[in-house]
Amino acid sequence: MKFIDEYRDAEAAKKYADAIGKITTKPWTIMEICGGQTHSIVKFGIDELLPDKITLVHGPGCPVCVTPVELINKALEIASRPNIIFCSFGDMLRVPGTEKDLLSVKASGGNVKIVYSPLDALKIAVNNPDKEIVFFAVGFETTAPANAMAVYQAKKQGVKNFSILVSHVLVPPAMEAILSSPDCRVQGFLAAGHVCTVMGYEEYYPIAEKYKVPIVVTGFEPLDILQGIYMCIKQLEEKRHEVENQYSRTVQEKGNLPAQDLIKQVFKVVHRKWRGVGEIPQSGLGLRNEYIEYDAERKFSVEDITAEESPECIAGLVLQGLKKPYDCGVFGTKCTPDKPLGAPMVSSEGACAAYFRYRKIKV
Ligand code: SF4
Repeated sequence: MKFIDEYRDAEAAKKYADAIGKITTKPWTIMEICGGQTHSIVKFGIDELLPDKITLVHGPGCPVCVTPVELINKALEIASRPNIIFCSFGDMLRVPGTEKDLLSVKASGGNVKIVYSPLDALKIAVNNPDKEIVFFAVGFETTAPANAMAVYQAKKQGVKNFSILVSHVLVPPAMEAILSSPDCRVQGFLAAGHVCTVMGYEEYYPIAEKYKVPIVVTGFEPLDILQGIYMCIKQLEEKRHEVENQYSRTVQEKGNLPAQDLIKQVFKVVHRKWRGVGEIPQSGLGLRNEYIEYDAERKFSVEDITAEESPECIAGLVLQGLKKPYDCGVFGTKCTPDKPLGAPMVSSEGACAAYFRYRKIKV
């Protein structure tokens, strides 16, 4: 298939792996930010092609995984109420809250619907004026424009029975939190190509400079990732710390300016809690005052719900690249995709799900 096969060519992959081997003289640890990249790495065995000196650690770029349990509990509380249609992308339905998940709310009669776009949820609101429609707006910068558009359109059309439960997080503050930690072992980043498609990569310049780390904007196919690793290792070996763009077939330096304008019009930057990590200052998006009537947390008075993470789940350490999924004591036993204890075992971008699906045992 065009645009797929050429990026999965085994011979070309082998050549890249050999080239990486030739330039690697020291041990290096690189973090791929995005859970989509993690799945490609584990699925295609990219880590196994690399020299032993290179360690890949998996980053926080799985939006489902970093949504804190208290926000899941807020979603469960709203979805359980009468007269609500709670709309969500499918992968949020099995993320465990403290006692249940959205799928079990649906099974016990809650009106929980899977949608493929926030604009579909808005359509449901227009067609059901006697119901309250809530969309679970989870994601990084990638999904923010579509969620902003839904709220913008709701206001423009005067739709009052629509709101969003916002769980938007931002990549650069998470990278800074990882780099500032005394336990940090990350020496270079593969930045997430789709996030940069929206945001560009100018915001990474000060991070690369401040922390002296190379950052390579990278795609998701095996050859993208191998080329991103090659570019990152080359910088490390040459003692450079620059921002480079491997994913130039999609990403431009300034990103998608109209999408950024829309995000800025509807959202403002706020502090956000990350699952297993805690609050990271200025690391998320919340609705601006002009759109506050579309904030489901306020509308349904669930702002005060708090919750503790499962003590057995080390998702926070996995998401910061400090542990691998198989370091978790309950990986594959008490925690499986059928009975997940934490979000990284459920999400299609979760590191634990990737290892369970493609490795199962310690590599
Ligand atoms: S295996 Fe399960 S419990 Fe362990 S870190 Fe992953 S999601 Fe959490």
